[in-house]
Amino acid sequence: MKRVVISVFLITACLSAYADSTVLECARLIDVENGEVLKNRQILVEGNRIAAVGKTVDAEENAERIALDTCLPGLMDMHVHLDGELSRDGYIKRFQKNPADLALTAAHYGQLTLQAGFTTVRNPGDSFNVTVALRNAINSGITSGPRIHTAAKTIATTGGHGDPSNGYRHDLAGDPGPAEGVVNGVEDARKAVRQRYKDGADLIKITATGGVLSLAKSGQNPQFTAEELEAVVQTANDYGMHVAAHSHGAEGMKRAILAGVTTIEHGTFMDDEIIGLMKERGTYYVPTISAGRFVAEKAGEEGYFPDVVRPKAASVGPQIQATFAKAYASGVTIAFGTDAGVSPHGANALEFVFMVEAGMPEMEAIQSATVTPSILLGVEDQLGSIRPGKLADIVAVVGDPTEDISALSQVAFVMKDGEIYRNQ
Ligand SMILES: [Zn+2]
Repeated sequence: MKRVVISVFLITACLSAYADSTVLECARLIDVENGEVLKNRQILVEGNRIAAVGKTVDAEENAERIALDTCLPGLMDMHVHLDGELSRDGYIKRFQKNPADLALTAAHYGQLTLQAGFTTVRNPGDSFNVTVALRNAINSGITSGPRIHTAAKTIATTGGHGDPSNGYRHDLAGDPGPAEGVVNGVEDARKAVRQRYKDGADLIKITATGGVLSLAKSGQNPQFTAEELEAVVQTANDYGMHVAAHSHGAEGMKRAILAGVTTIEHGTFMDDEIIGLMKERGTYYVPTISAGRFVAEKAGEEGYFPDVVRPKAASVGPQIQATFAKAYASGVTIAFGTDAGVSPHGANALEFVFMVEAGMPEMEAIQSATVTPSILLGVEDQLGSIRPGKLADIVAVVGDPTEDISALSQVAFVMKDGEIYRNQ
């Protein structure tokens, strides 16, 4: 009897060694910390961690070996909205979709995003806190998807970009308050942040200026007072959360930076003074060129947008890529972000093409989606580069993206937390 037990134990031990140990044989490995492409490197993954990286690694005989072309760290998109995607009937859908519909939609788009090589995303704004639930479901292994850092519902002001009842018939609109993400005054601002903490948010998103897609006239006006912004930032920091500020117009953007937000989203009409302030204060810029290009294209289609939205989409859209070019050339720290959900989910890597088109070298574009966001999110000891001891979030593409950035759309392999989600 004893002998049988021992042999069962040995079989189990061998199987687990086989299952838990993988060697990725990379024709190229992008060292994002040093900005170098290393030839013929092996990565040993044990469990959910990177155990070793080298020309050869010391692996178990039974380790699974996978030959790959160009390996790089799991990509990170700092601006996605997983719970929907822009469409011609998007404004009607708001009256038809229940929270459960949005949650299932978010799960689907999360999977598309992971398959596209994005193993971490920041979700600055959702409806019904569905990305909090999705984050928890992914983290507990119920479903697959990227690591999610979510702001839950955006915080706006009455009639501002992110007031969920904009454009509604009066008796339907009501008067949403801090719980729904609409604040007026300092006390409301604090309460809205605390509510999001209670709801399970990782960060806070505010709409410092008007926005393109809301049913409101201005896409640029400042929508918070300096006092409200300060209350948001101070309260968020008390709870260990950073603040992302949606901004198109200069005045609202400037107020948000001075109040101490961590990131400026879109940044469309960023001027020289703002560029100077961002550099001085270390504010990150999350450009979302993809969204700008997409809405500008759709503004050309009759009937795609409501009349109040169309001119905003036509004017704001094309400006973002030019602003990105200027901000990059001026030395603002850029963190990759698409606003997928406005642009199509799963096509996140197109943003790299737009960034390179606007003057950013390929390696820096890759760094903006790996090492830079890992610092922004405070997870640089775990993610953002391929280094022993870090979590095994690794993707591989066909071709060398430092020579041709569009290779990042040719994802062949996705590993997250040591699990393989895509292999060709
Ligand atoms: Zn957005």
